[in-house]
Amino acid sequence: MKVGNRMTMYIVIGLIAGIVVGSLFNTMSDQTWVQWIDQYIFNVVGQLFLSMIFMMVVPVVFVSIVLGVFNVGDPKTLGSLGIKTIAFYLVTTAIAITIAIVVALVFQPGEGQSELLDGDEVSEYRETELEGDTGDAIEQTVDQTIIDLIPSNVFQAMATDNMLQIIAFAIFIGVAMIAVKEKIGGVVQLFEQANEIIMWIVLAIMKYFAAIGAFGLVATAFTQAGFGAIQQLGMYFICVLLALLIHFVLIYGSVVQFLARKPFLWFVKNFMPAMTVAFSTSSSSAVLPISLETAQNKLNIRKSVSSFVQPLGATVNMDGTAIMQGVATVFIAQLSGIDLTIGQMVTVVLVATLASIGTAGVPGVGLVMLAMVLTAVGLDPAAIGIIIGIDRLLDMTRTAVNITGDAAIALVLNEQMTRKEERQAGIKQ
Ligand code: ASP
Repeated sequence: MKVGNRMTMYIVIGLIAGIVVGSLFNTMSDQTWVQWIDQYIFNVVGQLFLSMIFMMVVPVVFVSIVLGVFNVGDPKTLGSLGIKTIAFYLVTTAIAITIAIVVALVFQPGEGQSELLDGDEVSEYRETELEGDTGDAIEQTVDQTIIDLIPSNVFQAMATDNMLQIIAFAIFIGVAMIAVKEKIGGVVQLFEQANEIIMWIVLAIMKYFAAIGAFGLVATAFTQAGFGAIQQLGMYFICVLLALLIHFVLIYGSVVQFLARKPFLWFVKNFMPAMTVAFSTSSSSAVLPISLETAQNKLNIRKSVSSFVQPLGATVNMDGTAIMQGVATVFIAQLSGIDLTIGQMVTVVLVATLASIGTAGVPGVGLVMLAMVLTAVGLDPAAIGIIIGIDRLLDMTRTAVNITGDAAIALVLNEQMTRKEERQAGIKQ
């Protein structure tokens, strides 16, 4: 079983149908029958699909990283792969926020809209979401993120979907398997066969449920948010989309075309199934089983690279999220009549890049990170209340960008490894 073109087409149809039906339903959202259909059909279908793919995340990540590390076969190569991955991730995220800040400075989405700060959304957000002190949260982030890299309880890490901890544990197992490989043929086979089973399930979910699941998730999101909510925040919405588009085309385009030496359109076309599922689920973590499968089978990225680079990216690399944070920070500063200094902008880039490390890729988490960014530059985090209403729609798009960035970097590292092997083979001949 493979992700075929027809499967992709069905998912895209599901998405478009979800947007159309959801937008239509939004205009009648006060009707009881509309609420009923939304709650018992769209939501149930969507959540079932989401649970099915979430169900596969921990087994996929664990088994594929163990195998990936084992197949790299050499801890030194693994170390350099890890360092390159992190370096690429940090650089692309920093570029992403910079693009976002520039777009927001040019188009000024918050000019002349200061009345938004006096709306009920801001006080509601302050009361419900900001009980704790976000300042403390920032201080805790850096050291706690490092400490939290290693799980003190593996089962707890798995039970709470703690991606970085699962990755760390899988690396330990993979390295140990390399060390004792003469004695453990059976275990290697067990992992390989488990991988076959897990991937079969992932493909079956894709084949039979992705289109209808995507429809349900998107339909319920649009029924609740709708395009109407966008009107007042139109300029902010457009700025985020524009920055996402620029980053997608310019940065990923260059990365794929020049560093991986592959046609960008080929990349987009083949990675489309994963992007559409990311769009409908708004979760980089949930879509992992599908993005791994798509990268390995359609982009031909070797398993050892893909299964290491992409799960790491699902937590560490969130370019799309960083873009939303960049635009939102400038937007909120403009609403408050504050001109951000260069120093504050650098702080935005640093805090947003660091905050994304160790934050799980789940719906809406970008807003939590945004609270830290705003606090770090002295803006009122309660202003998030203004954008929360339309965030679900932006979350879809930025999640698709987030996972595309992971796959683009995986493609580059795969290409580099291939070239290195070719060089080495050339020397030997
Ligand atoms: N939903 C995003 C993701 O999972 C994170 C966010 O921006 O809220 O990648």
